Amino acid sequence: MQSEVKQVQLVEVGPRDGLQNDPTLLDVDTRIEFITRLVDTGVKRIEAVSFVNDKRVPAMAGAEAVMAGVPRGRGVSYIGLALNTRGFDRAVLAGVDEVNYVVCASDTFNQRNQGAPRAATLAAMHDIASKARDAGLPCSLTVATAFGCPFEGEVDVAVVSEIARQAADAGITELGLADTIGVATPLNVKTLVAAARAAAPGMALRCHFHNTRNTGIVNAYAAVEAGISVLDASTAGIGGCPFAPKATGNIGSEDLLYMLHRMGIETGIDLPKLIEVAKWLEGALGHATFAQVSRAGLFPAAA
Ligand code: ZN
Repeated sequence: MQSEVKQVQLVEVGPRDGLQNDPTLLDVDTRIEFITRLVDTGVKRIEAVSFVNDKRVPAMAGAEAVMAGVPRGRGVSYIGLALNTRGFDRAVLAGVDEVNYVVCASDTFNQRNQGAPRAATLAAMHDIASKARDAGLPCSLTVATAFGCPFEGEVDVAVVSEIARQAADAGITELGLADTIGVATPLNVKTLVAAARAAAPGMALRCHFHNTRNTGIVNAYAAVEAGISVLDASTAGIGGCPFAPKATGNIGSEDLLYMLHRMGIETGIDLPKLIEVAKWLEGALGHATFAQVSRAGLFPAAA
């Protein structure tokens, strides 16, 4: 099938999903600098922070201070991740533009990640979505482990469909299908996107891939072929997989943009500038990162 997508919106998740799973902790000022550099490249949606317990997740400590320092008035929507109503309330007070809530398709993963059964997290989604409406904020839902779970193995598509149906009922504004542990293949992407569309007709969809098993970029291509126009990625491909300590991270934003731009799909982002951000980030983290285009350079070479 010929792709009809002519424009893709990148949701840059490096400051949250990326840094949260990186061995190096960046302080608040460096995280603000990272976000500011991203804004300068033309990125319009950034998952900036997570409102979780600072002690449990030190990489995300100081979420309020980060939000207080990000550039405003430049048309960027900042997303704050919340796993419960307390996190949601903090996100609103901190001035996020969007809230992202998470349910894990796998019950075991949900229990480990969020300390609650999936059913409870799903029930709370209705409260969060209604609070978001009252606050006038869009509220997206990420379905984590939608393509597979490290504990339960294969995830039944019907489970994701049911979550999608409930998300639509709750008034969730966008549904993210996340391959949290990087196990999906293009066929899985095609199947799950179709299932989500059938379960929640008209729902905005977003896809989130990790490159854990080197299928991240080809999955992004499959998503675009399936008509998905919103994709998550992290600059320099930072991040990781909490259950595969040596694994690579999210798909790299510069790798994704390279593919999309060469296919004639616009993103509105200055790729050479983003590559500079990736190099700066690698320096700030003090270790090698995973994305490839920053190393290889552009083709044709940028003037
Ligand atoms: Zn992720």
